[in-house]
Amino acid sequence: MKVLVLNSGSSSIKYQLFDMRDESVLAAGSIEQIGEPGSHLSYALPTGQPEMKKAVQTLPVPDHHQGFQRIAAVLKETGALANPGELHAIGHRVVHGGEQFQKPARVTPAVLSAIRELIPLAPLHNPANLLGIEVALESAPLVPQVAVFDTAFHQSLPSHAYRYAIPKKLYEAHQVRRYGFHGTSHYYVAKKAAEFLGKPLDSLNLISLHLGNGASAAAIQQGICIDTSMGFTPLEGLIMGTRCGDLDPAIIFYLVRETGLSAGEIETILNKESGLKGICGANDMRAVGELAERGNPEAQLAIRMYCYRIKKYIGAYHAVLGRLDGLIFTGGIGENADFIRAGCCEGLDHLGLEMNNGANRERRLGCAALESGTSRVKILVIPTNEELEIAEQTVTCLSSS
Ligand code: ADP
Repeated sequence: MKVLVLNSGSSSIKYQLFDMRDESVLAAGSIEQIGEPGSHLSYALPTGQPEMKKAVQTLPVPDHHQGFQRIAAVLKETGALANPGELHAIGHRVVHGGEQFQKPARVTPAVLSAIRELIPLAPLHNPANLLGIEVALESAPLVPQVAVFDTAFHQSLPSHAYRYAIPKKLYEAHQVRRYGFHGTSHYYVAKKAAEFLGKPLDSLNLISLHLGNGASAAAIQQGICIDTSMGFTPLEGLIMGTRCGDLDPAIIFYLVRETGLSAGEIETILNKESGLKGICGANDMRAVGELAERGNPEAQLAIRMYCYRIKKYIGAYHAVLGRLDGLIFTGGIGENADFIRAGCCEGLDHLGLEMNNGANRERRLGCAALESGTSRVKILVIPTNEELEIAEQTVTCLSSS
């Protein structure tokens, strides 16, 4: 049973083809710089795990439609999908599902127009996601397609967590509320953490930290998400590679008055020039770590600020969850940066979180428990796999519809 997962951006299409009988990856790749002179397709094929054979083709890809055709052709040429009839379904990542989508939806004309109506809430992402669905529908009209939303897992937030303390008409007329993102990843790692601990997810209270280029925390009570750090947009919450996270909104008005920058220019600064990059000049945590190790005080400050912000969220979510069973680290930084995991858990013994420093330093691949023998709370690294979760939700959605 083959399922293709597509993540369509404004100038890229990423894909993975799964065999859902054993969840193996049959092919993976991406087309980047669509519509630009450097457009290229990179792909990988399994050659006997874990090595994948990699190839790059530089070729003109003027638009998403041709991008999809190119992906279909490479899947055919390499034998990963010799016959399009073998494809059970296509699952699409869609960033914003607003209040309409609490779970994945089989693509229909009504679902397409609902995603279109949500464009004002996600002007950078939903148009590209929609385009990806449209070209896939055009090219493979007989294959069932499912939209899986980044916001859906957070739709269980209670109103006291998702409302902002601003006039209620801004919520009613303009949908200004907390939505949260990275939901597919938070749900996947929570499920995997439950499996790893050998307990049902609905018996566990968890804090999940997705720390990649973007970063967010989620408070999960008995399997249900009750709060998350990203808000109306992915700008709120934790410090990220180039996003500022939490900020006094009055800073924006002050900057408009004092610098003459436009609202759009400040938006760009807060999204693209802030976070780790704003503090120390580097947005990649590996580079920040190396700078800090060489004694760069700005990089050292960036790491302290990054971990301090996370600690504040751990404390807040511990308070609202009541009992905490596990803290999950995931994403490129959560999975790989032991110094960040150590910094986030340092001094949290009073909350029952005690790291085993050796286990933290030595963790290499796969799921791992990092807490000491006396820690009341499990401290886990759980590698995320959003594509596999989209494929699974696609299959479940189709079998229930
Ligand atoms: P995205 O959010 O784009 O999916 P990732 O989840 O891949 O990003 O995370 C990217 C981040 O992970 C970068 O900041 C990168 O430096 C960091 N990262 C990856 N590997 C390591 C490592 N070994 N040590 C420290 N940071 C790492």
